[in-house]
Amino acid sequence: MQIEKLKEILANNGEPKFRLSQIQKAIYQDGVSAFLEISTISKYLRKLLEKEMKFLSFKVEKILVSKNQNSIKVLLKLSDGNKIETVLLSPMKNKWSVCVSSQVGCALNCVFCATGKGGFQRNLTTEEIADQVLFWKQFIKKNKIKGKISNVVYMGMGEPFLNWKEVKKSLQNLIELNLFGFGARSISVSTAGIPEGILNLAKNFPQVNLAISLHFVRNDLRSRFMPINKIYDLQLLSKSLEEYFKKCNRKVFLEYILIKNINDKISDAEELASFVASFSKKNLLHINLIRGNFTEGKLKPSPFFQIEEFRKYLERKGVSVTVRKSVGEDIQGACGQLAGKVSF
Ligand code: SAH
Repeated sequence: MQIEKLKEILANNGEPKFRLSQIQKAIYQDGVSAFLEISTISKYLRKLLEKEMKFLSFKVEKILVSKNQNSIKVLLKLSDGNKIETVLLSPMKNKWSVCVSSQVGCALNCVFCATGKGGFQRNLTTEEIADQVLFWKQFIKKNKIKGKISNVVYMGMGEPFLNWKEVKKSLQNLIELNLFGFGARSISVSTAGIPEGILNLAKNFPQVNLAISLHFVRNDLRSRFMPINKIYDLQLLSKSLEEYFKKCNRKVFLEYILIKNINDKISDAEELASFVASFSKKNLLHINLIRGNFTEGKLKPSPFFQIEEFRKYLERKGVSVTVRKSVGEDIQGACGQLAGKVSF
């Protein structure tokens, strides 16, 4: 939604101040899909806005629903022809999370992730990021889907902290009461570990959840699978987390994908437990174990029994840990499977 343009049209048209909030309520709270549907404004204004403005900054290219219907992925075509994906998933009945992309492609090139394979194209604008949430809001309404969006997670394509300027504005839109009005605590941003970004989040949005894609706790291994670790290694990451804890005493989620025979042995769990124990606020760290999703290549997900052993070990060591339920694997809508291609 082009909010600035909307304000401009209303001002040029001599509309009273409250008109903007009327329209924003219809769009952001009620989830209308077109200006023509806004019954609280005059027919003339509806038609004018319909003619002058674009409702969303992309067109839907493809929609994919998972077999059990708890995950829906769309491929969106941006106005310059680039494509991105966003996912609507329901980890709990009648509760929906929107997973948004922050960039077209990704520059980080993590070995296990599908997004990096096509390289980096460009940053998304604030509007393109926020519109993904707006799109799902309208989709839920149009398709009479039960429940509503309770969470937004920046875990789609791209590294949010390498597009901080636009990501920051999109977070403001999500939180602003006149717009989406989400509680900051129901939003999460995930990073591969960009220290500056972690500090920016702490400073600007101390209530927004932070998730770190940790995956490896040895620098040699992490650098092999996540090249960004050669620039920001585990020591720098730990230092920025200590800073984060000083600024906002909040729980941080460490994501750990389990890859068969790579990082899923009990000796790896031991190293992970020591990594957690090295923090001054270790009780604020929570490990999310994730079974890797691999569509091609040599990497294999850890067997379920191994994941359970790994989890139990951490638990015995007093580490707060859960195994994250993966949803949407059959539509390549799970973590790390968003490639922005029509590969289905
Ligand atoms: N660049 C940010 C945001 C992307 S979030 C980040 O790295 O955090 C996408 C999440 O999916 C990340 O935690 C990423 O590490 C994870 N992921 C990538 N490939 C995966 C795979 N094959 N299986 C499971 N999770 C994967």
